Amino acid sequence: MTVQWQEWVSLKPFNTFGIDVKARYFAQVHDDDEVREALARAQRMGVAVFVIGGGSNLLLSRDVDALVLHMASRGRRVLSDDGERLVVEAEAGEPWHPFVQWSLAQGFCGLENLSLIPGTVGAAPMQNVGAYGVEIKDVFAGLTALDRETGELRDFSLAECAFGYRDSLFKRAPGRWLILRVRFALSHSLQAHLDYGPVRQRLAEQGVEQPSAQAISEAICSIRREKLPDPAELGNAGSFFKNPVVAAEQVERIRAQHPSVVAYPQADGQVKLAAGWLIEQAGWKGYREGDAGVHRLQSLVLVNYGQASGAQVHALAQRIQADILARFGVALEMEPNLY
Ligand code: FAD
Ligand code: NAP
Repeated sequence: MTVQWQEWVSLKPFNTFGIDVKARYFAQVHDDDEVREALARAQRMGVAVFVIGGGSNLLLSRDVDALVLHMASRGRRVLSDDGERLVVEAEAGEPWHPFVQWSLAQGFCGLENLSLIPGTVGAAPMQNVGAYGVEIKDVFAGLTALDRETGELRDFSLAECAFGYRDSLFKRAPGRWLILRVRFALSHSLQAHLDYGPVRQRLAEQGVEQPSAQAISEAICSIRREKLPDPAELGNAGSFFKNPVVAAEQVERIRAQHPSVVAYPQADGQVKLAAGWLIEQAGWKGYREGDAGVHRLQSLVLVNYGQASGAQVHALAQRIQADILARFGVALEMEPNLY
C-alpha cells in the first residue's frame, strides 16, 4: 500500500499545546513497511523526517519544514506468561492510557502508576516517562527500533536504553532511532507503590485498604484530573520543566532563606528540587502574557489559552528560566521537545 502524503497540513490537532503551525509534508504510518516506504521516499526527495506520536511532549515554535511522520501503528500482545510474570508487547502508535487500561483489565500489574499519561507507547521510552514513583524503566522488557542511519532493526535491552530521569539514549540522539514497538515486564500479582504524593491518602479516603492495581490506577486518575489541565480544554504539554537535581549545599543555601523549600534527597547524595515550588515562590503561578501563561493551579505547567504561538510560549519559558536562575541560582531545563 502506498502511504498518502499531504502538504502544508496544520499540526494544531496533532500537538496538545494546540499550536497552529504547518507541516510541509504529513503522512500517517500503520506498520513497519509503511515506515520504511515513507522514509525511503523522504530520502529520495531530500526531505527531513520528524516523527510524532500524540504530540504531548512537543513545543512547536515554527512551521515544520520536513515530513511529519505520525505513528499510527496498532497492536498489543502477550509474548510470554509463566503464570506469575509476563511480557507484553505493544506497537508504537498505540495510545498510552488505553494500553494501560487494557493491561489492567487483563489482570496484569505494573503500569497502574503510569495511568492517564497522554501520548503513545512508542514515545514513552524517549523520556523514560514517570509518575507517582514509577518510571517506564521499572517495567521495561525491551524495544525494537529502526536505525535511521543504517535502515536496520535493532532490539534494545534495559541497560542499552540508558534510561535516566526523564531521559534516555533515544532522547540524547534526536532523530536517529524510530521506535517501532515496546515490551513490558508485567506481573499477575501486585507490588504496590503508594508512597508518593497523595496516592495512599486518596485510597484511604475512598475506604480502600488492600488496593488492587485497578484501584490504584483509578485513584491516580482522580488525582490527576483534579490537578492537571485537560489538553482538550486548555493547551499544554504537562510539566514544562524537569525537576532540577542539585548539590545538597545549594539546597541548604536556599532553605536558609526559604524554609519551606520542597526537596527530595537522591540516592547519589544530590537533591531533587520541585521546580513547581520554585516557580510558584517566584510569583509566576497564574501569570498570563497574551494567550501564553502559567497554569493557575499547577505552576509547572505552561498553557496556551487559545492563540499563543510556540514562540510566545517559549519566550515566557525563557523569562521564567532567567528569573529562577537569578533568584535561586538554579537552572531549569525544558522537558518538552522544542522544534
Ligand atoms: P510526542 O510529543 O509525539 O513526541 C515526543 C518526542 O518523542 C519527540 O521528540 C518525537 O520526535 C519523539 N517520538 C515520538 N514517537 C516516537 C517514536 N515512535 N520513535 C522515535 N521517536 C518518537 N510525561 C511523563 O513522563 N509523566 C507524566 O506524568 C506526564 N504527564 C503528562 C500530562 C499531560 C496533561 C501532558 C500534556 C503531558 C504529560 N507528560 C508526562 C508528557 C508526555 O505525555 C509524555 O512524554 C509522552 O510519552 C509523550 O508521548 P507522545 O506520543 O505524545 O510524544
Ligand atoms: P506532586 O505530587 O505535586 O509533587 C511535586 C514534585 O515533587 C513532583 O514533581 C515529584 O517529582 C516530587 N515528589 C513528590 N513526592 C515525591 C517523593 N515521595 N519522592 C520524590 N519526589 C517526589 O507532583 P504533580 O505535579 O502533581 O505530579 C504527580 C506525578 O505525576 C509526578 O511523579 C510527576 O512527575 C508526574 N507528572 C508528570 C508530568 C510531565 O509532564 N512530566 C505531568 C504531570 C504529572 P517527580 O516529577 O520527579 O515525580
